[in-house]
Amino acid sequence: MSTSKIVLITGGNKGIGLETARQLGKLGFTILLGSRDEARGQEATATLTAENINAKAITLDITDLDTIQSAVKQIDDQYGSLDVLINNAGVCLERGLPPSQLELTVLRNTYETNVFGSFSVTKAMLPLIKKSPAGRIVNLSSGLASLTEYNNPESDAEKYGVNLLAYMSSKTAVNALTVLFAKELKDTPIKINSADPGYTATDLNGHTGYRTVEQGASIVVKLATLLGDGPNGGFFDENGVIPW
Ligand code: NDP
Repeated sequence: MSTSKIVLITGGNKGIGLETARQLGKLGFTILLGSRDEARGQEATATLTAENINAKAITLDITDLDTIQSAVKQIDDQYGSLDVLINNAGVCLERGLPPSQLELTVLRNTYETNVFGSFSVTKAMLPLIKKSPAGRIVNLSSGLASLTEYNNPESDAEKYGVNLLAYMSSKTAVNALTVLFAKELKDTPIKINSADPGYTATDLNGHTGYRTVEQGASIVVKLATLLGDGPNGGFFDENGVIPW
């Protein structure tokens, strides 16, 4: 049985997820690198292993309940508990079309991954997280999720003229998951929070983001490693609390 903390990162094969794995791995965590594609997961895991990080690939498509259940079984069989879950996997499927031109299918598919997928993984992993003495869950949200910030002239949404109904509202719903799970878990050691990595250069935005993955992952790592007196049910970027 391993003595290092175990973290599962969904969508860990690239972008912010892979960098989060790298940073937590360097802190001594055992990394379970979730990837919906087995080969991509193995390849990313090999890069971490080459950096002396203890990492293992787990095939996990967060929209597929069978792969979620199989991941639960693997983690239960091998470790018996899970210390940290990072709901990182996410998609942005719309192509800049305004709300009136958004296809319902795109809205549904976005929610299928960002909301229903993150919900399903959280629900399935919770019994294992409850067996950890200090479980942590981090949900990858976005500054674009904030309804308060949306009309702030300083916000990224205003600056970049962003009006992505499917992506933005899905992340608002992710924040709701954070708040409502946190309420249920408030009398347990588990802490669940939402992270905004900032506009980060990854495949998700065609590498147009102005932040590096190292910068983006830092708030995720911070929330994954909160001490017992840390916040529960909050929404944070690297500068502190973000309004809902
Ligand atoms: P990437 O596109 O680089 O990575 C997304 C990851 O999610 C990939 O590993 C992808 O897998 C995986 N994924 C997508 N769908 C599924 C699925 N059904 N099951 C399992 N894995 C899946 O994006 P980022 O690293 O930028 O995004 C990571 C998170 O950060 C997302 O939740 C995103 O919304 C959030 N975020 C990103 C920002 C940014 O500016 N980049 C800003 C704010 C939030 P595959 O390789 O197979 O496609």
